Amino acid sequence: MPTDVRLPENDLLALALDFLLSHGLNAPQGHSLARMLVDAQRDGSFSHGLQRLPGTLNTMKHPRFNRHADPAPESVSPAVVRVDAQFGFSCLAAERGIDALIGKAGTIGIGLLAVNNGFHSTALWPLVERIAAAGLVGLSMNPTHAWVAPAGGTKGLLGTNPLAFAWPRKGKPPYVFDFATSAASRADIAMHRNAGREIPDGWGLNGQGECTTDPAEVLAGAMLPFGGHKGSAIATMIELMAGPLIGDRMSRQSQDFDHGADAAPCHGELLLAFSPDIIGGAGVGEGAERLFAGFSDQGARLPGDRRYRMREVSARDGIAVSSALLQKIRSQTA
Ligand code: NDP
Repeated sequence: MPTDVRLPENDLLALALDFLLSHGLNAPQGHSLARMLVDAQRDGSFSHGLQRLPGTLNTMKHPRFNRHADPAPESVSPAVVRVDAQFGFSCLAAERGIDALIGKAGTIGIGLLAVNNGFHSTALWPLVERIAAAGLVGLSMNPTHAWVAPAGGTKGLLGTNPLAFAWPRKGKPPYVFDFATSAASRADIAMHRNAGREIPDGWGLNGQGECTTDPAEVLAGAMLPFGGHKGSAIATMIELMAGPLIGDRMSRQSQDFDHGADAAPCHGELLLAFSPDIIGGAGVGEGAERLFAGFSDQGARLPGDRRYRMREVSARDGIAVSSALLQKIRSQTA
């Protein structure tokens, strides 16, 4: 959806919040989700920005969705904190656990936050950025739905399983990457279908398990992991770490739980935090900066740089958004 207008951040926050509250979501979840979506829109992460808002209606209609969820962190051990999202949107539960995660990692060097039973459809970078803002290294991952065939396989088994990482930098925004472990995101493939365009080889298989460049066939068949067996193994690790390790559903179970509702996947989410000061001691930051300098020396950019540039432009000129999307959101605000 092309962006053709720019609006102040507060206007978009109010728009998103009004939409969510008008459909009966409680205020804490409404504020948390509105913030996540507007932050993504502000940074040009459009796939996980305001265009996700209309789709929340399907999620809120899921028979198990809890509009009144009010999650609270529970300390499990000196390193582990758990928050049950109570079948609401997972972003509120993660936000409510993140200070405890940061506190634990800052005290003993490492912390683990397990978020359970949350409907999840947001980008992962906002929360790892929060961890890095506290001077810690952050890692986050979650399963989704079983849309991706394992390398060598023919049918969906793994999720698109995103992975995000943040490294804190003194006086600079953190190094952050955040991407799905499928060759392309499901949203990208759907965009190709809607535009009547073929997709590149290697993105997916048809219902017979054969390679195809037809996006509709892939959406009905199976997506492929990035990097062949390597992406397949990383996606499998995410299934295990953000599934059974934290006592939650993997992508197949999450899809079964959906039962055709077309809601956001409902599953767990794993966040890890590490203290460079405690683990590596003095010199950790300098070593990292030498590595990053090696990128700019050869004209390569760091992941996150594009978003930070977009953030500056949004602060100066307002946040880019599509007027057609604004109209759709307003018309669906009850
Ligand atoms: P991309 O393949 O677009 O990769 C995005 C990441 O790669 C960003 O960190 C980006 O930085 C970086 N990057 C892109 N191009 C370059 C480059 N040329 N040099 C250096 N770094 C680069 O992401 P996906 O489409 O796979 O995922 C997009 C979003 O979807 C993510 O935020 C992810 O969390 C989300 N997602 C969420 C799911 C969920 O379960 N909720 C499921 C799947 C995906 P920059 O932003 O600065 O360009």
